[in-house]
Amino acid sequence: MVAVDRIYRLEELRSWNAPGPSFAVLGQPIAHSVSPAMHTAALAELALREPHFASWFYLKGEIPPESLAEALPLLLSRGFRGLNLTVPHKVVAFSLVGEIDPSAEAIGAVNTLLATPKGWRGYNTDGFGLLAGIREDLGLQVGDQTVVLLGAGGAARGAALALLRNGVRELFIANRTASSLQTLLRELEGQRPPACRIEGFDPLAPPAHLPAGCLVINATSAGLKPSDPLPLALASLPRPRAVYDMIYNPTETPLLRAAKALGLPGANGLSMLVWQGAKALSLWSGVAAEALAPAMHRAASLALGLSVPGSPEPSVPGERRP
Ligand code: NDP
Repeated sequence: MVAVDRIYRLEELRSWNAPGPSFAVLGQPIAHSVSPAMHTAALAELALREPHFASWFYLKGEIPPESLAEALPLLLSRGFRGLNLTVPHKVVAFSLVGEIDPSAEAIGAVNTLLATPKGWRGYNTDGFGLLAGIREDLGLQVGDQTVVLLGAGGAARGAALALLRNGVRELFIANRTASSLQTLLRELEGQRPPACRIEGFDPLAPPAHLPAGCLVINATSAGLKPSDPLPLALASLPRPRAVYDMIYNPTETPLLRAAKALGLPGANGLSMLVWQGAKALSLWSGVAAEALAPAMHRAASLALGLSVPGSPEPSVPGERRP
C-alpha cells in the first residue's frame, strides 16, 4: 500500500513496477507538495466513470538536482507516463527533454512532462493556470487590461509571457532588484506584440502615468513569511481593479490584506496551482481541464487545511495500491 503523502526516493524508483501508468511530481524539498492529493482525487473521480483510470497512480519523488538527468530516462523506462516538476527542476529539465512544446519554448522552463514514443515532451502549464485562476477568482480576462506585475524571477517571466500572448494592453513590471528587472525586460522585448507597451519601474517609485484600474499580480516570494515586507505599497498606485497573489500558503499575504483594507477584490494563488495541475492531467488523460479542476480544488484545499465551504468532501483516498 502507498499513501499519497509518502515521499519516494530515486533508489526505490529504480525497481518501480506498477500494473498501470504512473505519474509523479519531482522536486527538492517535496514534502509540502499537494500535487499528489490533487491528482489522486481527480483520478478517483474519473475512475468512477472510466474504470481504467483506477490503475493510474501519482506519487511525490524527492529528487536532488544532480540526480534529475538520471531520473528522467529511468522513470520513462519504469512506466511513468507523466511528470510534474517543481523547485529546483523547472529550468534544468528544459534542457534535458527531447521535445519542447510551444507553451514552454520562450519561458525556458518546464513544469509538466508527457511520455511520447520519442521520449519526454516538456510543457509549461503555469501560464494557463494563472490566467484560468484570475478568470475563476476575479472574473477577469487579461486581454486589453493594464497589468502591474510584481517580480522578475521564474514565475514573473512565465506570467509576463502568458499575459503578452493573451492580449494584455500594457504591462508594467516592478522588481526590488533593478538588474533582474532589466534582464527580464530585455528578454521580453522580442516577445512583445507591437500593440502592447511594456515598462519597468522601481516598486518604491511607481510612475505617475500609471492608470487607475490596473490588475496587480504578485509574482514575488514576498509574503511567504509573516515577516516579509509588502512587494509594493498598493496605496501608492492609482486605485487598482483587483489583486492576484500567486502565493497560496499563507492564504492571506500582507498584499492581500492591504487590498482588502482598500476594498479591492483579491485572490491568492490556489486557483493557479489547481489549474496548472488540471492542465497537466488533461495533457496526460485527454480529459478537459474543466472537468478535473473542481475535484483538484477541493483536494488542494483539504490538503492545505483550508475549509471548503459548500463543497462535498473530496474523494481523496488516503491509500491506494500502485
Ligand atoms: P524566484 O526566486 O525566481 O523569484 C523571486 C522574486 O521575488 C524575485 O523577483 C525577487 O526579487 C522577489 N522577492 C523575493 N523576496 C522579496 C522581498 N522581500 N521583497 C520584494 N521582492 C522580493 O521565485 P519564483 O519566481 O519561482 O516564485 C515567486 C513566487 O511565485 C513564489 O512565492 C512562489 O510560491 C509563487 N508561485 C506560485 C505558483 C502557483 O501555482 N500558485 C506557481 C509558481 C510560483 P529580487 O530580484 O529583488 O530578488
